[in-house]
Amino acid sequence: MHVHDEKVSSLTELRHALRGRARVPLIHGPTPLEPLPVLSKLVSGPEIWIKREDCTGFALGGNKGRKLEYSVGHAVQSGADTLVTVGAIQSNHARQTAAAARRVGMGCHMVLEDRIGSLDETYRTNGNFLLDQLLGATNEIHEKGQDINAICTLAMERLRDSGKHPYFVPGGASDEHGSLGYVACVDELIQQFSELQMSFDAIVLASGSGGTQAGLVAGLALAKHDLPVYGFSVRRVANDQAEVVHDLAVATCEHLGANVKIPFDTIQTNSDHIGAGYGYPTHGSLQAVSMMAQSEAILIDQIYTGKALDGLIEMSKIGQFKPHHRVLFLHTGGAPALFAHPESITSHVSTLSKRKQNA
Ligand SMILES: *Cc1c(COP(=O)(O)O)cnc(C)c1O
Repeated sequence: MHVHDEKVSSLTELRHALRGRARVPLIHGPTPLEPLPVLSKLVSGPEIWIKREDCTGFALGGNKGRKLEYSVGHAVQSGADTLVTVGAIQSNHARQTAAAARRVGMGCHMVLEDRIGSLDETYRTNGNFLLDQLLGATNEIHEKGQDINAICTLAMERLRDSGKHPYFVPGGASDEHGSLGYVACVDELIQQFSELQMSFDAIVLASGSGGTQAGLVAGLALAKHDLPVYGFSVRRVANDQAEVVHDLAVATCEHLGANVKIPFDTIQTNSDHIGAGYGYPTHGSLQAVSMMAQSEAILIDQIYTGKALDGLIEMSKIGQFKPHHRVLFLHTGGAPALFAHPESITSHVSTLSKRKQNA
């Protein structure tokens, strides 16, 4: 048997585990898997490829669409009529949840947290927030530092009192339902690797609520594929993030009734590129955003994917990724948030072009 067919046949267990799970189709797939020759040359490290999860085609794309296929599947199965979720004011997840609710004829209510205390009018009205309004979601905004879980419970109770059947989608759709989206993505990836007759040495992505990384880890374990997944944390310190990802990967496997072991020390996380905290752009992430835009004409964002690409570049510089390696950057979306932080983008781009003129 051909090596590549062997890899695909290892998908039997994964497919069996996913069979019969409630799912609502939302995204256009498979999403493209493409080389990034110009960026790879600029970084002069490994051969960098990209998985375009920004191209899910669902309400401006992003990784939450894939997860919400299973979350919303479960919500429909539970007889819900309203989705309730939680996130930052500029949450990509909230935007995709509002869209998913519309697709199945449900209402959507969002509990939004002002995590960066921004007084900027654009941040509070444009980007994802604008799209939430367009999709007809209702919201309540809370200052950071409050008990957001208790606030969500109250919102659920209020809806129940008014005769609704609300379903709670946790932040980032990161629970054992949402993570199934990235278990399914492993199937898609392994088929693409096989079609390209190509193997990869690592997946690199931004890790927030952890469900994307956890789903990939669980799916790869089910497929008995030992590709390491490097999650660049956007919020928690590395070890805490590893615990979140590990717990969820284990819970996802249990939910699937799969008997696979996921050793804690196989979970790779790094928190060196967070900067001032969740939601704050860093110099490195802004640099990565403009580098990706100007080398490959691909739009990434400054809160998630920019920080992960900054991390990938750093790993290449310090020789952790070597020129003979092939690395897959998972583009989780997020470009709508570019419009919410225009000042950081414009100030950075003008610095770059000034530097070029001086050079
Ligand atoms: C939510 C999000 C992530 C992180 O995914 P998690 O599953 O929450 O870890 C990464 N990038 C973007 C653009 C996101 O919106």
